[in-house]
Amino acid sequence: MAFQCKKCSYRFESKQKLPSKCPFCGTFGSVIIEKTAEDVIKDIDRMLKDGELT
Ligand SMILES: [Zn+2]
Repeated sequence: MAFQCKKCSYRFESKQKLPSKCPFCGTFGSVIIEKTAEDVIKDIDRMLKDGELT
């Protein structure tokens, strides 16, 4: 799983579900799951299916 810190934009891999703090700048609650290209494609796919683009 890839994560990214919203504060310092540091990217890292972790086996943890969601680290509570950034290992680089140490800010709590700033870590978010980084979307992979695959996730983005899935999101778009879902939007197209749910949307009214017929
Ligand atoms: Zn950080």
